[in-house]
Amino acid sequence: MNRKKIVIGNWKMNPAGGREAETMFRRSERLLGPLRNIEAVICPPFIYLENLKKISRKIKLGAQDAFWGDKGPFTGEVSAEMLGNLGAKYVIVGHSERRALGESDDMVNKKLKGVLAAGLSPVVCVGELSRDNRHQYFDTVKAQIRAALAGVPKTLFHKVIVAYEPVWAISSTKNRRDATPKDSLEMAIYIRKVLSDMSSPPVAASVRIIYGGSVTEKDAGEFLKSGGVVGLLPGRASLTPEKFAKIVKIAEDALN
Ligand code: PEP
Repeated sequence: MNRKKIVIGNWKMNPAGGREAETMFRRSERLLGPLRNIEAVICPPFIYLENLKKISRKIKLGAQDAFWGDKGPFTGEVSAEMLGNLGAKYVIVGHSERRALGESDDMVNKKLKGVLAAGLSPVVCVGELSRDNRHQYFDTVKAQIRAALAGVPKTLFHKVIVAYEPVWAISSTKNRRDATPKDSLEMAIYIRKVLSDMSSPPVAASVRIIYGGSVTEKDAGEFLKSGGVVGLLPGRASLTPEKFAKIVKIAEDALN
């Protein structure tokens, strides 16, 4: 069972050029100490993967999306198999910024299955747009998880990472506010229960749950200590190698 801690940096649509991507990646590599009980992953834009693969030593590579078909008439799309051939081990699916562009639960499900079929690990993002006093956000997250994993064999659940990313806490959200480790903890417990109901407690325990939403080097430790998660998905902070390396170091040193 892989319960290794993990920090996944999502570069989103940054930087504008390959040379800068290489500089950022090299600097992140250089700043990292030895990685023992932790995986450090960076998800750059697709086009940088091939070059970054050549210089990656400690940092693994991931992608920010993948199409479900393996090849064929799908103009503009990139398959998980292609991404695997470029060195990606992880693929984010269902990020809220893609859902905002119209990606449905059904599309997330197909993409997640495509990633598994290519032998890679999907990082499925779930999270409510806002919170309400009637706690309906639990139902929202449950529905997203059930839809994303519909039809996935239980024997493959251990390859899946669930990233809880409350959209109201993500840096790109207007009028965003900070989530707390307590927000993360209650949702992580709930997600584990949803996974358990879909499979069994041991299978649910094999799924890594991580947190994302404006994580920085300032709050990473608290989320790992009290947020019920084994990893983090920083976006903006991962664009600064010093911050990314610090978050990885904090995670490496965290006790869980
Ligand atoms: C993300 O990209 O998934 C994310 C959480 O971004 P940020 O850390 O910038 O909020």
